[in-house]
Amino acid sequence: MHDLVIRGGTIVDGSGAPARSGDVAIDGDRITSAEGKAGPARREVDATGKLVTPGWVDIHTHYDGQVTWDPYLTPSSWHGVTTLVMGNCGVGFAPAKPDKRQWLIGLMEGVEDIPGTALAEGIAWQWETFPEYLDALEKMPRALDVAAQVPHGAVRAYVMGERGARNEKATSEDIEAMAAIVRDGLTAGAVGFTTSRTLLHRAVDGEPVPGTFASEDELLGIGRALGEAGHGVFELASDLMPEDPELAWMEKLARATGLPVTYALLQQDMDPGQWRRMLEATERAARNGAPVRAQIAARPTGLLMGLESTAQPFMAHQTYRAIAHLPLEERVRRMRDPQVRRAILDEQVQFDNPIMGMILNAFGKMFPLGDPPNYEPAAEESIAAVAAREGKTPHEIAYDHLLQRGGRELLYLPLLNYSNFDFEPIREMLLHPQTVIGLSDGGAHCGIICDAGTPTFLLTHWARDRRRGERLPLEHLVHRQTRHTAEFYGFRDRGLLAPGMKADANVIDFERLRLGLPEIVYDLPARGRRLIQRATGYTATVKSGEVIFREGEPTGALPGKLLRGPQAA
Ligand SMILES: [Zn+2]
Repeated sequence: MHDLVIRGGTIVDGSGAPARSGDVAIDGDRITSAEGKAGPARREVDATGKLVTPGWVDIHTHYDGQVTWDPYLTPSSWHGVTTLVMGNCGVGFAPAKPDKRQWLIGLMEGVEDIPGTALAEGIAWQWETFPEYLDALEKMPRALDVAAQVPHGAVRAYVMGERGARNEKATSEDIEAMAAIVRDGLTAGAVGFTTSRTLLHRAVDGEPVPGTFASEDELLGIGRALGEAGHGVFELASDLMPEDPELAWMEKLARATGLPVTYALLQQDMDPGQWRRMLEATERAARNGAPVRAQIAARPTGLLMGLESTAQPFMAHQTYRAIAHLPLEERVRRMRDPQVRRAILDEQVQFDNPIMGMILNAFGKMFPLGDPPNYEPAAEESIAAVAAREGKTPHEIAYDHLLQRGGRELLYLPLLNYSNFDFEPIREMLLHPQTVIGLSDGGAHCGIICDAGTPTFLLTHWARDRRRGERLPLEHLVHRQTRHTAEFYGFRDRGLLAPGMKADANVIDFERLRLGLPEIVYDLPARGRRLIQRATGYTATVKSGEVIFREGEPTGALPGKLLRGPQAA
């Protein structure tokens, strides 16, 4: 008698092998068989006509604060994620001296757009060191397995104080002290070390993340701690400018430690061919024995601009600013007043920050998101193109769009990965051997981006709905977000439906699988705001042998654990 059998589904096992029909039998928290007919069970999930896959393993999230108060980690858990990795891009909440707590919150708020008030109210700070942070996480019940990485920003401020926070150069003693902290963190169970080298990532006070300008000595000095600990991924977000020296130190580090280095790679409009050069160089590095991987996204980094978002085209207009504080309903009523509309549309705005001005006026690349959301719109669907056709200004079209659905409509601005107005570069990246899927940024960018639904999008768009180019095989997509991501972080016990593996699985009604419309809700601590996106079609999500979600609703089962370090097969 098995504990649980998922009966009669189409098994896509995570290995990349062709789908097959059969039963998945589970005993305790392990899979005992994943083919043919299974015997009777105490509980069954009927998977007739449905897909059965491993649970998704998302390696790029920012739940470092939320994980301390929310056992469910939505939106990721709504999308079938059963294991996730946090602490990316150099930001997180340990180590943390008591007098640096507020500063770390400001760093997270600035870089990842997570409301500082929510973090301040939500985090109980039962730790100072990184190992103490892990102990605190371990004590809390949760639905998913989570793994943490040591963030450079926190380590630098911890060791170097103000000098570290202000990005002064690290001395050799500083580097040694930082390396020791990272080594202790890894020994206690961290699964990696992360850093930020992009000027886009700034604390609320405008200061780039500590470590942004770190020298090769510092990066390699800390990176060697991974080699000494014998495990861990080195993750970074970099502007990749210039690209050759950046890749050179990554290669050097990966070769020295034998451990993976992964950097965020997205197509940038300023240099739309860079991603391909980077992939070629990354492949060369891999051939020369340096395990460097480009971390890629399954869709563009898309800003979702609405009246309740962090940004929208009229946010700097004087007349809008005068009513910006009003509740949404009242604001919409005022904006519908023809006089107010005229005033806002007529105002010329000077931006202190030219990049902000460019983004808010990028009407040629701004689209109505649509329902169902369309993440791959054609150029002729842009606000600028619609305006030209209708003989209006792009501002008018954008304004009226934002007022639809009671002021909840969103404009989609694919900032990265969309230079050519199609997904061909992403498709190549998804097929490339030296890439790994990440960058969903679950838990982050709460007021402007919501890509935590990436796993669902991989299936709906890439395997089923794409019309403007080739689709990708379902088996490949499932592999890439299960066994592939799991193995990259050394989680060899999961990501496959096979005997002996962790019993993490999704039962998916593929025909019914849909992404909901992204929406703003105020459900973080202190009524903090966040964008969420739900999904329909996940019949059940199983974690360690227990059904944790059924049709999008939590069952109350909390079998999740903190993962300490790599997991043996
Ligand atoms: Zn990130």
